[in-house]
Amino acid sequence: MLERLDRLPAGRWARLRDDVRRCRLRRGAWYPVLSLGEDEVVVVVRHESAIVPQVYLEIVTTRPNRWTVIADERYAVCPNCAQRVAVGTLPEQMRCGQCSGVFEFEPQPDISTIR
Ligand SMILES: [Zn+2]
Repeated sequence: MLERLDRLPAGRWARLRDDVRRCRLRRGAWYPVLSLGEDEVVVVVRHESAIVPQVYLEIVTTRPNRWTVIADERYAVCPNCAQRVAVGTLPEQMRCGQCSGVFEFEPQPDISTIR
């Protein structure tokens, strides 16, 4: 059962909000949502389910298809396989060396707001 979790047709995806650090989820990576409770969310993390407080998460209902940019640590996270890639100046789009997917980047805030 556990090894099949990743193949469930998830209708929602979640990632950590930018200011959350104390959690087993990796910054910038999207995780399929198994179920959505009132205060807690069950997500699939490395083939296992994990319960995370809903306030920690940003939740979307369409499959993410853009690189998440972690500006202060200068890397991007693949929306498909969660691979981390170091980036400097962002190109228009980038191919993931892990899954070969080609994705654009999320719109970035003004450079002056990057810590
Ligand atoms: Zn990838």
